[in-house]
Amino acid sequence: MWAYSSSSCLVTSFRFSRPNRHRYKSEASAPRSHQNGDDKERKKKVIIVGAGWACLASAHHLTKQGFDTTLLHDGSFPAEEVSVRGFWNPYKNIFSLIDELGIQPFTKLTRSALYTTEGLEVEFPIYRDLPRLPTPFGALLYTQFLRLSLVDRLTSVPLLAPIIDFDNTDNAWKRYDAMTARELFRLFGCSARLYQKVLKPLLQVGLFAPAEQCSAAATLGILYYYLLAHQQNFDVLWCRGTVTEKIFTPWLESIKTKGCRYLENKRLTDFIIDEDSGHILGVVCGQETYEADAVVLAVGVSSLQSTIMSSSVLQSREDFLNVLNLSTIDVVSVKVWLDRKVEIPNASNVCSGFDDLTAWTFLDLNSIYDEYEGAPTTVLEAEFYFAKQLLPLKDEQIVVKLMSYLSRCMKEFEEAKVLQQIVTRLPESATHFFPGSYKYMMRGSTSFPNLFLAGDWVVTRHGSWSKEKAYVTGLEAANRVVDYLEEGDFARILPVEDDEPHIETLREFNRRINETTAQIPLAEFFM
Ligand SMILES: Cc1cc2nc3c(=O)[nH]c(=O)nc-3n(C[C@H](O)[C@H](O)[C@H](O)COP(=O)(O)OP(=O)(O)OC[C@H]3O[C@@H](n4cnc5c(N)ncnc54)[C@H](O)[C@@H]3O)c2cc1C
Repeated sequence: MWAYSSSSCLVTSFRFSRPNRHRYKSEASAPRSHQNGDDKERKKKVIIVGAGWACLASAHHLTKQGFDTTLLHDGSFPAEEVSVRGFWNPYKNIFSLIDELGIQPFTKLTRSALYTTEGLEVEFPIYRDLPRLPTPFGALLYTQFLRLSLVDRLTSVPLLAPIIDFDNTDNAWKRYDAMTARELFRLFGCSARLYQKVLKPLLQVGLFAPAEQCSAAATLGILYYYLLAHQQNFDVLWCRGTVTEKIFTPWLESIKTKGCRYLENKRLTDFIIDEDSGHILGVVCGQETYEADAVVLAVGVSSLQSTIMSSSVLQSREDFLNVLNLSTIDVVSVKVWLDRKVEIPNASNVCSGFDDLTAWTFLDLNSIYDEYEGAPTTVLEAEFYFAKQLLPLKDEQIVVKLMSYLSRCMKEFEEAKVLQQIVTRLPESATHFFPGSYKYMMRGSTSFPNLFLAGDWVVTRHGSWSKEKAYVTGLEAANRVVDYLEEGDFARILPVEDDEPHIETLREFNRRINETTAQIPLAEFFM
């Protein structure tokens, strides 16, 4: 048990100052004040655990604020982000970071498509190039549906009602989280074809799980953020190599240059706690310990779960025990080099319906990665989501499956031979927003006053998703540290673009109706 009473010798080497500006609310009481002359000299130590978007965001900001920062990573850098990654138009905070770093890692905006077993189903244009219409008219009019009838498409209109109603508040999450996405689409009258051909596959590549296993709250959040809030939100550009190579490496270098220590192969196993005050005094990595005045944990759901299993300190708190109820999704990524050039019309492609189990994507690396631009043969990468059933297969079996699926999307793949392949299994790599999962998700502040959380599964009211959400929660965690330690400036977090005026009006109207109906006697009686 890594808990120490405040009378133990370890604790005497730590000092806390009393924070009194609680702009970010901690769930436990403030630490005891032991301010003396030494404290003013000593830089406050912040440990940041992880090495993804969330973690680097915290480390970057806190190092710039002059804290004594140490980044602990369980792997050796670069280790994450092996596959191709997309960056959508509303990722304002990430784009601002890229400008600050002075790097140019991205392609131009690219077009996307959706394939089913019948072939090309939908083509998504670059919406920014087309005259801007009030949402959702741009998405409805400019998206090219090749097989889906207008009647099928129009059955999506009633979905606007829950989209307006879901305003990303705690109440809205609680209201919709118990329902599945499939149930939501059924309840609001979507046609079977619209669901099967478009909504289901798009959701499975957005939330990585089949619609009957996705929370309706997460579904509404993601649909609004990527597709419906503004016409150009679905516009995407890609990293021109791996994120590790193009972004993380220069970013980490810049953080290290500013004074952050980066320690590889340090797996967090437990914490040292002052039992009297409940403050974290340091972290444990196997046999080693590191002192800390504040800690940011940004490790992803499955890693946090294994840390909880090894940490008697975390096991003592309900908010952490609840995380054990969350779940993650397995992904399999396949990169193939073909013996000939196949002209792939769109850089990124979503596919569904081939075995009714996984949705998958394929990306044309010749038009995304610098290193394959102009190559005489085709290099592409595919990703299968919710793919536990693929994990035990041999690489060759997975590649045969991929090639047969590709041939059904485009005949040109039929004759192509695979020259080289890399199959990467990514078990438990994506957060599963399953129905009912919201109540187990954690906030940025924890029941430990100086332990903060960041990551794409951490609850935030910012409204963003995926990498942008992970990055934003990293900045939010840094702000909690600044607030707690009463030093430094807060990081500026760019908000998502405001709702369009007609959506704002509809939301206001909806809020009033909800308030009025809440007054009706017995309003709470029925489910
Ligand atoms: C297959 C796949 C494709 C995706 N594609 C996209 C995309 O195209 N666009 C997009 O925006 N988002 C995409 N996402 C989502 C996006 O990658 C995640 O939202 C984002 O990476 C989450 O970042 P994070 O910092 O929260 O966590 P992570 O990236 O999971 O980082 C956690 C880090 O913590 C380290 N760690 C874990 N445990 C410990 C420990 N005990 N001690 C020390 N270190 C530890 C890990 O090594 C890792 O570096 C994709 C996700 C997956 C799985």
